[in-house]
Amino acid sequence: MVRRQVPFVAMLIVLMALPLFAQNQTQAKLRPHVIVVGVNGMELDVIRPLLLKGDLPNLARVIKNGAYGKLRTVDAPNCPRVYSTMFTSTTPAEHGVTGFLVGGITANTNMLKQEPIWSILSKNGVTVGMANVPATFPVMPVNGYMVSGMLTRGKNCEDGVLCAPKLSEVEGGDAVYPPAMKAELLKNVGDFYIDCERMPSAEQLRGHETEVIDSWLKKIDVIREQQTQLFDYLLANHPTDFTWLVQSCEDRTGHWLYPIAPYNVGYNPKINAVRPDAFPDQYIGFDKVLGAILKHVDDNTYLFIVSDHGIKPLREFEETDPHAHMDHEKTTPVIAKHDFADGDDVPGSFFAMGPGIKHDLRMMGFEASVYDITPTILHLYGIEQPKQMRGHVLTAIFESSENKVAQK
Ligand SMILES: [Zn+2]
Repeated sequence: MVRRQVPFVAMLIVLMALPLFAQNQTQAKLRPHVIVVGVNGMELDVIRPLLLKGDLPNLARVIKNGAYGKLRTVDAPNCPRVYSTMFTSTTPAEHGVTGFLVGGITANTNMLKQEPIWSILSKNGVTVGMANVPATFPVMPVNGYMVSGMLTRGKNCEDGVLCAPKLSEVEGGDAVYPPAMKAELLKNVGDFYIDCERMPSAEQLRGHETEVIDSWLKKIDVIREQQTQLFDYLLANHPTDFTWLVQSCEDRTGHWLYPIAPYNVGYNPKINAVRPDAFPDQYIGFDKVLGAILKHVDDNTYLFIVSDHGIKPLREFEETDPHAHMDHEKTTPVIAKHDFADGDDVPGSFFAMGPGIKHDLRMMGFEASVYDITPTILHLYGIEQPKQMRGHVLTAIFESSENKVAQK
């Protein structure tokens, strides 16, 4: 009898395990891929003419096959403040990352007082990959990988504010999780810049304007090329359910090379008449990055393109203190900015494409806000929205309320 019982028990275990195995397979199959592409300071005023000219074929494809509109941001928006709002769907006062500096210290992940999206997804078994996302330094453990972005500290960029250490130059914390992945990236992608280049100072520019502008723009091209290679490598070799990748040179360029007119505040022909296409060209460069990312987007992938805020020329009436214009780098002749008191003056932008998302949908007014990004992504994975979150699921972008999202 003993001889017959053993195979029976074994068979029972196999029978019990089979449906579980099949169920896990189904869950893995149903679990959608989500790729979020962040563009710092994407300005619709500059994007729209480029779309009309046919200069942004990849973005045009996303618009045609998806939903798009403005993205309401927070007041006095800047990258760490808004990204941390997107991560947590809570206000800057609630999550604690109120700006580049908090209490005199460069904003960092240890300051986050609310649970961010990468943690919630990881806890729910979703694999997470993030690269060059602002305010993610030092990196935190995730169910996947994380490569930090803006505010990473390192050599020649000790405070981490709007400068660019290379991966090998990072100091004061880890820029890559898991740590072993750093050597792999250095070997296979090379020693890339983690953030965009620091803007030149007024002194560096004086008398060498054209030369400094051209060499700065060349450096930006190198950084974007490196980031494209990084994204392509990660998407091909480390595919994750959820991936968040960010570009930050667009905003940096806009601050001092926005194509302004002579009547605008701060106009200096020696700088502002040199390369009027420099800022629009950043979006043409971005569109190529998007093209590389789109190669990894299949029928089961949701693509979100989000911008934390727009960027607009300075206004005569906005500030009485002329140094208030020098917001990012103490002496750079800044001629455009985004930290206006009223965030609705510089809305971000939102583009979404994927299974069950409406095609060619133009969202009016402020239907979407930076608070809604995480709740909408959690919804796609069937994860209940935590109570502290202030945003809502962007149901209007889906074909019906019974949208074809994966259930956890
Ligand atoms: Zn900026």
